Amino acid sequence: MVQSDDPLIGVIEAGGTWVRVGVGRTWQQVRDAPHDAIATGEPAETLRATCALLRRLAGSESLAGVGVASFGPLDLARGVIGPSTPKLAWRGVDWRAELASRLGDVALGVDTDTDAAALAEARWGAGLGRSVVAYLTVGTGIGGGLVVDGRVVHGRGHPEMGHMRVPREPGDHFAGSCEAHGDCLEGLASGAAIAARYAGASADSLGPAHRVWSLEAGYLASAVSNVLSVAAAQVVILGGGVMGASGLLGRVRATLVERVHGYLDFAGSPGELSEVPQAPGLKGRAGLVGAFALARAALSDGVDEPGRTLGAGG
Ligand SMILES: [Zn+2]
Repeated sequence: MVQSDDPLIGVIEAGGTWVRVGVGRTWQQVRDAPHDAIATGEPAETLRATCALLRRLAGSESLAGVGVASFGPLDLARGVIGPSTPKLAWRGVDWRAELASRLGDVALGVDTDTDAAALAEARWGAGLGRSVVAYLTVGTGIGGGLVVDGRVVHGRGHPEMGHMRVPREPGDHFAGSCEAHGDCLEGLASGAAIAARYAGASADSLGPAHRVWSLEAGYLASAVSNVLSVAAAQVVILGGGVMGASGLLGRVRATLVERVHGYLDFAGSPGELSEVPQAPGLKGRAGLVGAFALARAALSDGVDEPGRTLGAGG
């Protein structure tokens, strides 16, 4: 239930092409309200336009907190975009300093777009009610986050599940498209890898009978199997544009059951195991809703409010 005394929160989801911006008092408002987007250009102009848009959406009110779900890699302790991002102009951009200089005294929560989406899906989406939830986004690149008991797992930094190694599918001789590794998961199964394999073809231009989908199902099933083996996740949510391909989730599920081969006792029956990979519950809004969760956590000085944020009621 929306309460007028809930603080107004600004949300930013910064991707390689668009920066999406919204405001809301509850996660449901952020999910449901129309949001605005501006093109991701040079950092100075993009950040200026982003903050101007936030102020316009807030109207006469002041924002109590702002959450940022940013493309990475990201130095989580400082909120700084890392040196290995392919977006050269954005290397070293300091989200906290940039937003503080433009917006003044607001609580800031910053994490990767993947971690934010994982958090939102775990709390309010397809992972609701589960304690160990993994989220993989399969788009131009591949990223992954892990949420345990309502918190995103950070160790030395944020996980880089897109760069896990997976065994090659039989007969696949594609070198792989990852600049660092060649044939890691991202190099074999991302949207960029599909385009590199098939001369610029986009995932949705290749028909459902195309060989690419059996390769995708194989690589993604291996990835889900790896995540299960490492984290015993109850749900592995598969999002991102590539997963929009008709029938792909079903093929991943069937292939996963073959790959696990009856071994993971905790996964249950083949039918239960096939339910581990799930479509996102928040659709394309997980990043923005996750940014809301980051801001609320920052407002609480890093202390979550489980009674408010973990329940379905928000
Ligand atoms: Zn890689």
